[in-house]
Amino acid sequence: MIEIEARLDELEQLGLARRTRLVSGPQGPRVVLDGKPVLLLCSNNYLGLADHPAVREAAADAAMRWGVGAGASRLVSGTMTIHRRLEERLAAFERRQAALLFGSGYLANVGVVSALARAGDVVFSDELNHASIVDGCRLSRADVFIYEHGDVEHLEWGLREADGRGALIVTDGVFSMDGDVAPLPELVELAQRYDVRLVVDEAHGTGTLGPGGRGAVAEAGCEDGVDVIVGTLGKALGSYGAYVACDLQMAKYLVNASRALIYSTAPGPPAVAGALAALSLLEEQPRRVEKLQANAALLRSELATAGFEVDADARTPIVPLVFGEAELAVRTCEKALERGVFAQAIRPPTVPLGSSRLRLAVMASHSKSELRDAARALAQAATAAGIRPEELRRQHAAAQELEPLPAGDGRFRDVDDADGRFRDFADAVAAPPRSRPAAVVGGSRDALGAADPSAAPPGDGARRGRARPATLWDDGDGELWVERRKPAAGGARPFDGERDDRPARRDAQRPPAPAIFDAEAPGALVEHAA
Ligand SMILES: *Cc1c(COP(=O)(O)O)cnc(C)c1O
Repeated sequence: MIEIEARLDELEQLGLARRTRLVSGPQGPRVVLDGKPVLLLCSNNYLGLADHPAVREAAADAAMRWGVGAGASRLVSGTMTIHRRLEERLAAFERRQAALLFGSGYLANVGVVSALARAGDVVFSDELNHASIVDGCRLSRADVFIYEHGDVEHLEWGLREADGRGALIVTDGVFSMDGDVAPLPELVELAQRYDVRLVVDEAHGTGTLGPGGRGAVAEAGCEDGVDVIVGTLGKALGSYGAYVACDLQMAKYLVNASRALIYSTAPGPPAVAGALAALSLLEEQPRRVEKLQANAALLRSELATAGFEVDADARTPIVPLVFGEAELAVRTCEKALERGVFAQAIRPPTVPLGSSRLRLAVMASHSKSELRDAARALAQAATAAGIRPEELRRQHAAAQELEPLPAGDGRFRDVDDADGRFRDFADAVAAPPRSRPAAVVGGSRDALGAADPSAAPPGDGARRGRARPATLWDDGDGELWVERRKPAAGGARPFDGERDDRPARRDAQRPPAPAIFDAEAPGALVEHAA
């Protein structure tokens, strides 16, 4: 049983405890946060549509006309005329044959990935993909090859090793915590060459990038090479819910196979109508997207003027200020709040260890002067927290090299509360020198690859060759863990030398898996068997 108090104490000690803050009033460029007026610089309401009068009115009208709840799942009685209308509009917007509404982006990713891969298949997933994709992989029971962030060479290595077992490549279009864009043309090329599907999550691309705000895929001209686009209604579209855009056959399949669609109540009419109104505004006023992009460029240049190092080529509204240490990021966040700017500190496991940050998100509804003032306030906040903006890069590098914090008794703990990146989290926190996240979950690749460096795949972790010898450890629930240290006496159950028989059962009617996907071989395996 999980020792809740001990777990909470531990998170507190590591500076990783979380709590919710309270916003009064609508999600505008300025909000009242825990009673104090601040500039909101960490909302995904990119186009300012969540609080737009026309969107609010549409939602209110829909509540009067169709009621508040859909009352049932899409497949029972929850598909109402308003759902169908939005699906038709979204399909036209995405220039696809079909669109399918889901309850949320989280559900859409979980539902799509788990419907398109099954035990014995291999899913190829970028190491910085969103938690909902990670969870979709788990639900699928497929083996998962986690490729280093944006590293198509590493991905191709995995595709070759999968030897025909590959089912799909899945990636964020715009990465949620870094604001960079996936190498979409290369992914399309690899998906075609190795005959796997390609799924792109446009949660942060829709409404922010591309012609008409149609996202990163449209911007890259890759529409024809992407099998499924996942979009959310909760970010630029200012509402709640999500959609999948695909061809008719795929939509028909997902209606039959996607558990997150089948077993969850349809989004309520006000949310659907709000998204419809937001979509109309996006289509009628493409200037909104231009304003957002101009604001993002302005914030970047103002931050650079204030001394921060920012990626001048980036075009998305997500601007990370990476501090490294969690405590420093949190302190800067508090100091910024004192100066009237709200940019939430983002810490592991949402981001890799040693890369805690303020994730700034620009909105089209910010004014130029607000963004200028914010950049200055953030520089002052960092300085007040003990670091000059110019020193951030060095601090970040140091946090990655240092052993961040001690980790108690070294027992294995599963604290993957958000995205499953750190399955043996306490171990990872204590591990010197610091390993990248792929080395923790992807885990196996670095840790096990060390046994035979010649067998290690290309990629940073392997190249650095700093993995430690490791053994596999089975927790008895069918999860395989990478053990890098001896569990403390009385702690986790030791590996008793017996692997369960799942691989044998699974492969009864399949050719044996290539060794790389066997957890005992060197390689990048994460087994998500149930
Ligand atoms: C926010 C987000 C989601 C989840 O979307 P919701 O509609 O908020 O559930 C999925 N993928 C990415 C990349 C996200 O940032």
